[in-house]
Amino acid sequence: MTNVSKEKVEVALIDGDGIGPEIAAAVTEILAVAGARIEWVPCLAGSRVFLKGDPTGLPEETIETIRRCKLALKAPLATPLGGGERSANVRLRETFDTFAAVRPAKTLRGLEASSRFPEIDLILVRENLEDLYLGVEYDLGRNVFSALKVNSEKNTRRICKATFAIARALGRKRVTGISKSNILKRTDGSFDRIFDEEAKLYPDLIADRMLVDAAACKFVTDPGRFDVVITSNLYGDILSDLTAGLAGGLGVCASVNLGCDVAIFEAVHGTAPDIAGRNVANPTALLRAAIMLLDHIGQNDVARRVEGALSLVLQERKSLTADLAAGGPSVSTTAFTQAVIDALPKVELVDGETRWHAPSLEGLSEMGWKPDDLRSFVQASLAPTAA
Ligand code: NAD
Repeated sequence: MTNVSKEKVEVALIDGDGIGPEIAAAVTEILAVAGARIEWVPCLAGSRVFLKGDPTGLPEETIETIRRCKLALKAPLATPLGGGERSANVRLRETFDTFAAVRPAKTLRGLEASSRFPEIDLILVRENLEDLYLGVEYDLGRNVFSALKVNSEKNTRRICKATFAIARALGRKRVTGISKSNILKRTDGSFDRIFDEEAKLYPDLIADRMLVDAAACKFVTDPGRFDVVITSNLYGDILSDLTAGLAGGLGVCASVNLGCDVAIFEAVHGTAPDIAGRNVANPTALLRAAIMLLDHIGQNDVARRVEGALSLVLQERKSLTADLAAGGPSVSTTAFTQAVIDALPKVELVDGETRWHAPSLEGLSEMGWKPDDLRSFVQASLAPTAA
């Protein structure tokens, strides 16, 4: 998808919950002024859909639009707590088989002061469909509850293949597999075995493994040691917030949920209900997701212009949102957005280089389990059999 296109590209736009509508408006405004050749197709998902009584949080029209566009920019969606509805985020990933969450953690120029490690430049790939997120939980009685961690060979092999392909596409050198196989000998043990088998197919890349606890320590003491990281769903969820924290905070890190047919770009952060509706949220993370989208569709001229304007505003440090201002004076979401727009004409286009390349995932679409099939298989396997 990297052909430079003069045509407008249709992209589904989910403006999300909480701070979602505020940051989505900021991003679409900046992209319009920057000359992005994108036709946004607004779609509903999340809380507003749950409130209408649809327990999926994902209406059929939204599914059809994403299926047609194959691309989406998604602001965060709230997950209902406790019993009842499942997460619309999880449903989106399952519906479009976006099995890899790719989460770069790189400190932007100008954010060095807010980042503990200005030199950080790693990519964390999180398996997106199984593990504890398959959602198989049991009430065992007497107030004992259990959640099933499910790692299948098919999905693990697929995510390992995708990760090595991503590392190659981006010219990276090392891939580190992270698990807890000293304790979870079958689930994570199988992850390690498959990782090692796949690594042998990529002799041009260094491959090594680390236990998740040791990796957590290494991330905060020596993050420069990591290049591309692959891990399972829950560890990836936690570690990608950690790496976002190292690279400047949740408000600045982006992500793409990648499948063979569909790519859904989003911020790493959630709906930030504590600041929603107050015009103080930082749109940078969603803007960086949009920059990845622009690179993905070959509009790297616009991607670099927006990235350059964002960097200028961050380097000036005069128009920072509260999360980046470190207690100093801060500006509103709308003032920050205007500052980025005002900086666009000042950007000198030094190169048309693409920072994000969509990897070739050929042959991987049929390789994994469909989550419903895997759930049914697991549940049937565990059901007591008639004597
Ligand atoms: P959160 O990421 O929404 O917020 C954590 C902290 O970071 C809060 O203090 C918040 O104010 C701050 N923050 C986050 N984004 C910010 C931004 N752009 N600008 C300034 N500050 C920002 O995490 P949470 O509070 O644990 O989750 C809230 C909801 O979001 C939950 O329903 C959760 O399930 C959902 N969530 C959704 C996604 C997604 O849609 N991909 C991801 C994570 C969490």
